Amino acid sequence: MLEVKNLKKSFGNKKVLKGISFNVSKGDVIGIIGPSGCGKSTLLRCLNLLEIPTSGTIIFEGKKMNYYHNLPATRQKIGMVFQSFNLFNNMTVLENIILAPTKLDLLTKEEATKKANEFLKKINLLDKKDSYPDELSGGEKQRIAIVRALLMEPELMLFDEPTSALDPEMIGEVTDLMREIALGGMTMIVVSHEMNFIKNFTTKVIFMDDGKIIEENTPEELFNNPKDKRLKEFLSKVNEN
Ligand code: ADP
Ligand code: MG
Repeated sequence: MLEVKNLKKSFGNKKVLKGISFNVSKGDVIGIIGPSGCGKSTLLRCLNLLEIPTSGTIIFEGKKMNYYHNLPATRQKIGMVFQSFNLFNNMTVLENIILAPTKLDLLTKEEATKKANEFLKKINLLDKKDSYPDELSGGEKQRIAIVRALLMEPELMLFDEPTSALDPEMIGEVTDLMREIALGGMTMIVVSHEMNFIKNFTTKVIFMDDGKIIEENTPEELFNNPKDKRLKEFLSKVNEN
């Protein structure tokens, strides 16, 4: 469904992505791990058209991604969840969730509201639909952000450190929801330091360092039998925490 070929991205003369290539098949759950600053967010942002690559190609559902035309149509198919939730604080939970699909005319307000209510009920937050984001916990905000992305019925979901801004006791409710979405067959790319999720719920793990993919393997192989020195070091550091 997604082919990334020799993707490069520089900011000025700073090379951030130095030739990234990988494939994603339908139903894959890809974990991306690597030290801070190695380019993980930049990679996801290129996939979601938030950054324009310097060179390389991304083929999504058989078509070369176009950074200048039809951005809303592509973004509808690729949902993104951010570390910082990115909810609009001046809108209620319900308004946040239905904003994009109604603005893009994918759903009427009634349809979007009905669907939003169903999702909210499923995650036990229906009673919060008229609350404002400031009135919610971090875990609640992130689950709302996930539901907001799901309402667009994306083909692919990108998660950029979705639990990094959360207090430890709230991480589980977010990873539980992500696991449920993965089990439902959603194709996902997850950047996370939550090694339990990465180990247990991904089909493939990519280790990045310094703008490159250093190692790519099944979670079993990557964690039990890391080959590259940098990966071994990285894993020993995350295991200390
Ligand atoms: P990660 O998500 O792995 O921590 P990022 O992709 O956020 O890494 O950042 C990789 C590098 O690119 C960092 O050195 C960061 O400072 C730089 N960078 C990211 N975005 C920009 C930008 N818009 N302008 C300049 N430098 C950037
Ligand atoms: Mg990042």
